Amino acid sequence: MHDQSRRRFIQSASALTGAGLLGVSARAASITTRLSRPPTGPVVIASANGLAAVTKAHELLIGGADPAVAVVEGVGLVEADPNDMSVGLGGLPNEDCIVELDASVMHGPTHKAGAVAALRDTVHAAQVALKVLQTTDHVMLVGEGARAFARQNGFPHQDLLTPRAREAWLRWKQQLNNGDDWLDVDQRDWDLDTNKAIPRTTGTIHCSAVAASGDLGSCTTTSGLSYKIPGRVGDSPIIGAGMFCDNTAGAAGATGRGEAVIQSCGAHAMVTLMGQGMSPNDACQAVARTIAERSKLQRRLIDERGRPRFDVKLYALSKAGEFGAASIWSGGRFAVADEAGPRIEAAAYLYERD
Ligand code: ASP
Repeated sequence: MHDQSRRRFIQSASALTGAGLLGVSARAASITTRLSRPPTGPVVIASANGLAAVTKAHELLIGGADPAVAVVEGVGLVEADPNDMSVGLGGLPNEDCIVELDASVMHGPTHKAGAVAALRDTVHAAQVALKVLQTTDHVMLVGEGARAFARQNGFPHQDLLTPRAREAWLRWKQQLNNGDDWLDVDQRDWDLDTNKAIPRTTGTIHCSAVAASGDLGSCTTTSGLSYKIPGRVGDSPIIGAGMFCDNTAGAAGATGRGEAVIQSCGAHAMVTLMGQGMSPNDACQAVARTIAERSKLQRRLIDERGRPRFDVKLYALSKAGEFGAASIWSGGRFAVADEAGPRIEAAAYLYERD
């Protein structure tokens, strides 16, 4: 292995602190810190809501688990958490108040993928995606087919809509259109003081892992864009968009505006760049720049200064255990677990929030 490629690049909270001492900006500090030793154990990364997920996946990898199984088990904690309104149980519903989940998983050693989209009534979408990978010759099942497949494989059917998510949907519905028959807050004769609309939200968990052997696994699971048109599928279950893994190079994933990630094949682009020798952090920033640049072709997506009105967050992990993350807008974070323990780190970014 080339000496350079064995070096570890970490854009970490400690890197930011060190950079602060040197008087450079957080943006410049995101460039990476080099450690001159190769990884000595498993490394797991995830979106910022994945601290428990990386902790669990790392423990499983230490115990010898397969990396694809480890990441699916890790994200399962978040899928089962009713308080995370972006994934699994408690995820925000679609326009018709029905929760539809998307998930994908990829196994580096066999280069096999599994995915489900618009899956209803099943908490563990990532586990169903893993079943597709392990037990079928297909890659993706959607809608009613995915739901039936889950049931046939012993996944219980369960209503995923929590009271909190239903309330959020109701507020959105009531305040959607001034001219409809749903009364907005200011049109009502009595006061229900929780009547604040929750704006449309995105949220997802991505998790990638490399075992000490260098084998990779990757997974993304989500309830997708809140209040989406029923049947809408985001980037999370699309292999090469919200998740991709190549056992010779690395694994990557994305969260945020799925339409933008799909149209730039985000995860595949990052893995390709890592395969060409780019550090994970630089690969994330390069794809963030590409997405921002392409958004200029659709005027409604950019502000008066030509910057995207949306955000995406990109995560990448190389076969050598280097990792990075970048978003379009500042403030992004991600979770990591390696020999230094589980933690949250700051992501690089293109634009500072005003
Ligand atoms: N990327 C997801 C989607 O578009 C949503 C998110 O990550 O927030 O479905």
